[in-house]
Amino acid sequence: MDERVRFIRKLTPALRIPPGRTVELGRDFDPASTDGSVSRSDASGLLDQGVELLTEYQDRLYAQASSGVLVVLQGPDASGKDSTIKHVMRGVNPQGVDVRSFGEPSAEELSHDYLWRCHRVVPQRGRIGVFNRSYYEEVLVVRIHPELLVPERLPELPKDESIWARRYREINDWERYLVENGIRVVKVFLNLSRREQAKRFLKRIDDPRKHWKFSAADLRDRRRWDDYQRVYSDMLSHTSTEWAPWHVVPADHKWFARLATAAVLAQTLVEIDPRYPEVEPATRKQMAKARSELVAEVGRSKAAAKG
Ligand code: ADP
Repeated sequence: MDERVRFIRKLTPALRIPPGRTVELGRDFDPASTDGSVSRSDASGLLDQGVELLTEYQDRLYAQASSGVLVVLQGPDASGKDSTIKHVMRGVNPQGVDVRSFGEPSAEELSHDYLWRCHRVVPQRGRIGVFNRSYYEEVLVVRIHPELLVPERLPELPKDESIWARRYREINDWERYLVENGIRVVKVFLNLSRREQAKRFLKRIDDPRKHWKFSAADLRDRRRWDDYQRVYSDMLSHTSTEWAPWHVVPADHKWFARLATAAVLAQTLVEIDPRYPEVEPATRKQMAKARSELVAEVGRSKAAAKG
């Protein structure tokens, strides 16, 4: 087996949350973990290999054009969502990838159901789509700030039903629909520690080139750290499914987060195993004819140039 694939197969299972498992982030996952088997000095070579593998498989995915891949990236502020995308996707052909970021919904988006803005940009077959934040914000930031539900103008809920349980069901159903229709869903949660977030915020405040990354809303959310950990845990417990499992990637060490995310995505592509399409015998015949014509033409022009 390809050495690169062997590495990926070894790294990814420990990151995946088995369906039905009740997760408590703080208890179950260490944001500073580096798997024990990879050292920082090996990481850059391994990431290069992972990126190379992604590039090869993406080319095949694009050529085959029968499956799409949707990568959903979630995580607290400063968990490295942007830079992970930058490093993991750096080798792939930009023609085959779309990256989308989801911030506060616009008035138009609010006048639709909450999955609408995401569904309209689900990748086509043959392409990889990356969601930098996603519909999962609807069970995260909206749960922490339930006043955000007001402009969504939802119908009244039966008294015995929780909006969050309902949304988990809707999201699971929607993802299942995507998978059944050839769009694989790869979910990565970048698990950052509170301490590391403080360090990264301080860097943003102290470096004028990073000021643009800082927003007061980040601090507002940081004050609700424990509440966020609870809603992340609940989301992971209820939306890790057979068809679209969550991966919890330790994010305190950026080098490891990039490597692990690349591995998770590569693992999916290896599973899809896209193949270059084989051409019909008639087309092959046409190609053979075209080849001899071209070879003859090149030969003639070489002879003309010589003499
Ligand atoms: P980032 O923090 O990812 O770099 P932004 O500065 O654009 O990007 O922040 C996006 C903000 O939009 C986040 O605070 C996020 O919680 C918020 N957001 C995303 N989706 C929703 C949603 N559906 N409803 C309300 N707020 C949302």
